[in-house]
Amino acid sequence: MTRLDATHDPSRRSWLASANVATCDFPVQNLPYAVLRPRASHGPFRGAVAIGDQALDLAALAATGLVTGSAADALALAAEPTLNAFMGAGPAAWQPLRRALFALLAQGAHAQDTVRACLLPLADVQYAVPARIGDYTDFYTSLDHARNCMRIMYPDADVTPNFRWLPQAYHGRVSTIGVSGQRFHRPHGQFVPRGASAPVFAPCAAMDYECELGVWVGPGNAAGEPIGLADAEQHLFGICLLNDWSARDIQVWEMQPLGPFHAKNFATTVSPWIVTMDALAPYRRPWSRAADDVQPLPYLDAPANRAQGAIDIQLEVLLHSAQAQEAGRAPARLSGTSFRHQYWTAAQMLAHHAAGGCSLQPADLIGTGTISGPTDGEAGALIELARGGQRPVDIGGGEQRGFLADGDTVILRGWCEQPGAARIGFGECRGTVLPAMAPAGAR
Ligand code: MN
Repeated sequence: MTRLDATHDPSRRSWLASANVATCDFPVQNLPYAVLRPRASHGPFRGAVAIGDQALDLAALAATGLVTGSAADALALAAEPTLNAFMGAGPAAWQPLRRALFALLAQGAHAQDTVRACLLPLADVQYAVPARIGDYTDFYTSLDHARNCMRIMYPDADVTPNFRWLPQAYHGRVSTIGVSGQRFHRPHGQFVPRGASAPVFAPCAAMDYECELGVWVGPGNAAGEPIGLADAEQHLFGICLLNDWSARDIQVWEMQPLGPFHAKNFATTVSPWIVTMDALAPYRRPWSRAADDVQPLPYLDAPANRAQGAIDIQLEVLLHSAQAQEAGRAPARLSGTSFRHQYWTAAQMLAHHAAGGCSLQPADLIGTGTISGPTDGEAGALIELARGGQRPVDIGGGEQRGFLADGDTVILRGWCEQPGAARIGFGECRGTVLPAMAPAGAR
């Protein structure tokens, strides 16, 4: 499943000094992919790899001829304006390129001046969504999140029985997925105001975020040909941060019995950098179910998934209000947790998705669902932290939030850290809520 090799050796350093700073998200052991171009450019986007405070322009690198053999074929795909073809090429392309890039960027590499000429400062680039996403599916796989949400509505209720038997999901919307920096208008929709007996059509009054991870599909499968759980990891390219913005008042009214619609389809934000499954290898963890809990059906169970299906990705959520930004105050930290607590693994989500005959394609995007942990400070959505708006959260400067206000910027961060492995990070996923537009007909 996942193997450690020389590219994970924590003692290795880069010749680029900024990559060796202890708190840096992008040391030579990470090598995440994005699609970008210089901020001032109107030219084509191209694939890039992050190293320290720089991006290695893969199109420029390909032009140098420094990379040869099978890694050169992979580099040509990774340099394209979208990562679709590279994602679809699978581990046979991903692994040689990872080794070649590591060799070029590690201390002692030859041709450092040539590679240095292919670097762009991260401070001076603009990003695009890294691939043309065909389909987006958002799961609901954190038991703690599901329990917290149920208890806000029904204090003594447990999750629905199916939660423990299958990774629940709905088919989402691609057209409004944006890259970090996304700014969107508070959506209009139907909801029933507290105490009212009929719905109104009005700007959402209960805007929320959801701290999730986005899992990028690599090679797909033909319709009718399921992907076995034991093979699922071969179909996973990498992971980014994902904010599934949610209009809670609209959601509560519209989702029964077919699921969310307006509540989720106005904006979803992804981080630009995709950390590969290869880079995450040191952070795999056993996945288990308590002996007295429901055990998965055979198609959702495999020895490798038990041995290391979970991933210890640490996450935190920060909120930067317009007032705090104007006053020069730092963002408020709302919560933090780890993906290792998730009730279902990324591989189980993928295997379940394909199990009924659904074909997946390279660069399909899978949202993990909100990631909440077992204690109070580990909730991945404001509805949980503020108990459905009833217990507003203090964000400093005399401000409180039951739900998000116009001008609020939500920042997700993720990283992996443990003794004996290099710390690697995901960068940031940020997005901003703008005031509602006037409704159609009023403009
Ligand atoms: Mn979600």
